[in-house]
Amino acid sequence: MTDKKGAKVLSEVILDVQGLKTYFYTAKGIVKAVDNVSFKLNKGEVLGIAGESGCGKSTLAYSIIRLVPPPGRIVDGRIYFMGSDILKMPEEEFRTKIRWKGISMVFQGAMNALNPVYTIGDQIAEVLMLHKGLSKKEALQETAGLLKMVGIDPRRIRSYPHELSGGMKQRVVIAMALALKPPLVIADEPTTALDVVVQAQIMNLLKSLQRELKMSIILITHDMSLIAEIADKVAIMYAGKIVEIGPADKIYNNPLHPYTRALINSIPSLKKELKKLEFIPGVPPDLTQPPPGCRFHPRCKYVFEPCSRDEPPMVEVEPDHYVACWLYSKR
Ligand code: SF4
Repeated sequence: MTDKKGAKVLSEVILDVQGLKTYFYTAKGIVKAVDNVSFKLNKGEVLGIAGESGCGKSTLAYSIIRLVPPPGRIVDGRIYFMGSDILKMPEEEFRTKIRWKGISMVFQGAMNALNPVYTIGDQIAEVLMLHKGLSKKEALQETAGLLKMVGIDPRRIRSYPHELSGGMKQRVVIAMALALKPPLVIADEPTTALDVVVQAQIMNLLKSLQRELKMSIILITHDMSLIAEIADKVAIMYAGKIVEIGPADKIYNNPLHPYTRALINSIPSLKKELKKLEFIPGVPPDLTQPPPGCRFHPRCKYVFEPCSRDEPPMVEVEPDHYVACWLYSKR
């Protein structure tokens, strides 16, 4: 990490993912959803992870919180959270010490994340009772404060999910994720299915809570414009791999990987003069049989001789800005 003058700044690493591989063992073959992914996240930093649907970004999130659904499993790699290798931790220790207390998650689709037969107050209070050992009365008192923090009138504590709008339900899910004030929150597509006005409100809420609570966030989305609003650092995933990672301003102002450039050129801009929107031809590859070499080569307009044969290594092109593309590597 560097300051505005380019000098190195020492930061505390909260999450260090090294060579993570999460595969799904299906009847059709092995789906390599996350394939050798490495990155670091500093304390108080917001990392945006972007890529098309099916690129492995949600599987990466579920791997970090150790909730990969079967037939998926983590087959290799290390995940260090605050210095501890959490993949080596027994499940019970991870459940009581790390999941929700250390790393919590705002799940995709608030409609499905909430239980329709319990009040929102009871659902948030349950987290506090289980993890903090509070009585029901104490937990409900704290829940009222959490609802206020996410902009919901505490008098709604006895409401059922169906009595709330989509945006309010999303706020409840955020309150649940923040109930134990974890140092790291993973938000997986937190604004899917919400209209743009509510999307902006939810992003502003996440931004202000992140500053207030000084937590780290991993924001997962296919929407590059959402990431631009909040992220300090951006990672671009394609077909199970990170193809580019760096400080947000460098990724947006100087995107290097052809896939990143195409993603950014597909965002309409209200400020600049009308630009021609780009689309990415073709479809993401079948991850049971990913293309050899660079996985983006069948769709890349710059493809040349080594791309379909050898996998490009990740190289640092400018301070903290890494890319995996043969255009930037010496063969
Ligand atoms: Fe395109 Fe080759 Fe770079 Fe892959 S390695 S993005 S195919 S130029």
